[in-house]
Amino acid sequence: MIIVGAGISGISAARHLQIDCPNKTFAILEGRQNIGGTWDLFKYPGIRSDSDMYTLGFRFRPWTSTKAIADGPSIMKYLNESVDEYGLKEKIHFGQKVKKASWSTEKALWTLEVNVEGSAAPVVYTCNFLSVCAGYYNYDAGYTPEFNGIENFKGPVVHPQKWTPDIDYNNKRVVVIGSGATAVTLVPELAKKAAHVTMLQRSPTYIFSRPDEDKLANWMNRNLPAGMAYTITRWKNVSLGLLFYSLSRKYPDFIKGLLIKGIKKELGEDFDVEKHFSPTYKPWDQRVCLVPNGDLFQAIKSGAASVVTDHIDTFTEHGIQLKSGELLEADMIVTATGLNVQLLGGIELMVDGKVPDVGNTVSYKSIMFSDIPNLTMAFGYTNASWTLKVDLTNQYMCRLLNYMDAKKWRICTPRQKDPTLQLHPFTDFSAGYIQRKLHNLPKQGNKKPWLLKQNYLFDLMNIRHGEIVNEVLEFS
Ligand SMILES: Cc1cc2nc3c(=O)[nH]c(=O)nc-3n(C[C@H](O)[C@H](O)[C@H](O)COP(=O)(O)OP(=O)(O)OC[C@H]3O[C@@H](n4cnc5c(N)ncnc54)[C@H](O)[C@@H]3O)c2cc1C
Repeated sequence: MIIVGAGISGISAARHLQIDCPNKTFAILEGRQNIGGTWDLFKYPGIRSDSDMYTLGFRFRPWTSTKAIADGPSIMKYLNESVDEYGLKEKIHFGQKVKKASWSTEKALWTLEVNVEGSAAPVVYTCNFLSVCAGYYNYDAGYTPEFNGIENFKGPVVHPQKWTPDIDYNNKRVVVIGSGATAVTLVPELAKKAAHVTMLQRSPTYIFSRPDEDKLANWMNRNLPAGMAYTITRWKNVSLGLLFYSLSRKYPDFIKGLLIKGIKKELGEDFDVEKHFSPTYKPWDQRVCLVPNGDLFQAIKSGAASVVTDHIDTFTEHGIQLKSGELLEADMIVTATGLNVQLLGGIELMVDGKVPDVGNTVSYKSIMFSDIPNLTMAFGYTNASWTLKVDLTNQYMCRLLNYMDAKKWRICTPRQKDPTLQLHPFTDFSAGYIQRKLHNLPKQGNKKPWLLKQNYLFDLMNIRHGEIVNEVLEFS
């Protein structure tokens, strides 16, 4: 079988295969020249996780560093050590980008057309089963809205996805456009060296502060076996995350009040928290951003950074003219305006000579697609660590493969034939980057196994402990 992508999900898929399907042979095709995906691609100052590493890390490999919120290089170290320990390097074919995948029912085979870096002709691979662990966004370019007059600005305009280490922001006036996880990571970090950093947002985001170290986890790490300490901390954080999310959905006003109160405590009563940090949507309609040790608030309090909530009228030679009439002077502008969501690593699919319309398929447990055989996709949570779901996905894939081998089935396809099934969008997450591409994402149904809940406990019961054979999965 073939795994596409050597990011955290692809490494997880490979390790699950080693553990649960020791007789399977597999290769990993990775479009870039390194493992790590997101954690190798993004090089902007301060790059870090915004979920805790006890739930972002692999279930089978304890995270033992003292930082629960980890920087990019520490995450890369963990991934590199994992790949070395499991002997996965030789399984990864670097610089091999999968362009097309064509399924033949007659042969029970996927045929992949792969662009190899430095080679003009594509290479062809075949496999019976495809595990796509290609993340959820286009690696070539991030999302930048059309800004009026952007060409007039004399200084550099940088998207964080394209940040390179030589970019100099020392003593510069920097404007960071955006209010998501990347913007709130960048602002305090840039503020350490820049003359001033302004976070320019159209609308506020929910933000909360948490220490970057988990004292209880560190105590357990010192006093208990690593595996035990990790499991306890992982479950503690899964439970707290689920509690926070479900309370936010049930009592949005109450949770909103608590979040706003937390920020007022950090910034003082004189700061206009209502204007800059009180969103109009409910908590978890979009991702709630974590700032470790209140670093963003410290930067604002010290005067090194500030927040402006306004709309851009036009870029000028020396900055940004706002709709309110204010002019924001800048030497450099960072467009932390998001990603271009892309499913399946941009691979063009073909099933028995026809191009499937993925946006009109129904997602099977958020792992497979209706009418697309022998293909799983690692697509994680948006309201918790991505990898909690990916771990379940990869474990399910192994259970499915073992069942198929035991019964000598070669093909497995989810089929949606229930006329009473109501179809809904893949997610109700209202973040712009998801909404822009919602039409390209599969639908979900109102009943199991087509129902997607973004809830680890629900998925644990349905995916890890749920049935393999049901009326929906067709084997041949
Ligand atoms: C800046 C940033 C911070 C984030 N922080 C968090 C966080 O704190 N917590 C969290 O849960 N999530 C976070 N996320 C989401 C994050 O992307 C995932 O958690 C995780 O890294 C995804 O891993 P992945 O392996 O699924 O995908 P990726 O990391 O995107 O890796 C995909 C890999 O597949 C390869 N690939 C793609 N297409 C092809 C193809 N056609 N052929 C061959 N190879 C291909 C890519 O080159 C890449 O190596 C963050 C995302 C970003 C952008």
